[in-house]
Amino acid sequence: MVHFVGAGPGAPDLITLRGAELLKQADVIIYAGSLVNPALLEMAKQDCRVYNSATMTLEEVLAVMEQAEAAGETTVRLHTGDPCVYGAIREQMDALDARGIAYDDTPGVSSFCGAAAALCAEYTLPGVSQSVIITRLAGRTPVPEAESLSAMAGHGTSMVIFLSSGMLAQVQQELLKGGAYTEQTPAALVYKATWPEEKTVRCTVGTLAQAGEQAGIRKTALVLVGDFLDSPYEKSKLYDPAFTTEYREGRK
Ligand code: SAH
Repeated sequence: MVHFVGAGPGAPDLITLRGAELLKQADVIIYAGSLVNPALLEMAKQDCRVYNSATMTLEEVLAVMEQAEAAGETTVRLHTGDPCVYGAIREQMDALDARGIAYDDTPGVSSFCGAAAALCAEYTLPGVSQSVIITRLAGRTPVPEAESLSAMAGHGTSMVIFLSSGMLAQVQQELLKGGAYTEQTPAALVYKATWPEEKTVRCTVGTLAQAGEQAGIRKTALVLVGDFLDSPYEKSKLYDPAFTTEYREGRK
């Protein structure tokens, strides 16, 4: 059996209890070495075979899984954050289906949650934004035209931009092109959220590229954009003394 596991954003104690248990029991671990904290591998059994997928092709990853399966062994495929966000798990799962190999998926804390935690921020402030757009600039992987960063920026919602901190000038330009954010709209860069070397930089959309350059941030970072970072908001109805909910009678 193959277990896809979300490693969390970096801090080793941010993996789930289920994920940790699977790591402890694995005969084989294939981890995404470019982003998964190697400290997590200390949980592995002494005789566990560990592979770093950063140096492997999809075929090589599958070959390791196939070999383990043939020997009746358990494999953990450890992905950074949550596997469902830019995790390239679909292609692995489809290949496992074709080979008749069973698998399951254990979620993890995505880096967009780790980044919000680093800033003690809430993406969904009433009266500010009730949506979070998770997106990226096109790189070698194209982004569908209708989802271009400028098109996404037209909504003015809370936004998290992955895989793009090496192209901050373009990010800034596209965000402004969308028409809903201004040069003054709050923004932030979070480098290696929850790792010991985490760095946070608060800026505005107009100073994003400059702020990134000054801080030397080019990779392993998220760009957060929106008024949720610094804006007046409305208090939630849920905790309003006058508001009746299923669990609490509102006071007049
Ligand atoms: N599945 C992962 C994302 C993988 S894509 C998740 O759920 O977080 C890789 C990109 O994620 C990086 O280029 C960077 O933009 C972002 N990223 C991953 N870990 C990060 C961290 N700890 N801090 C900031 N950004 C991170």
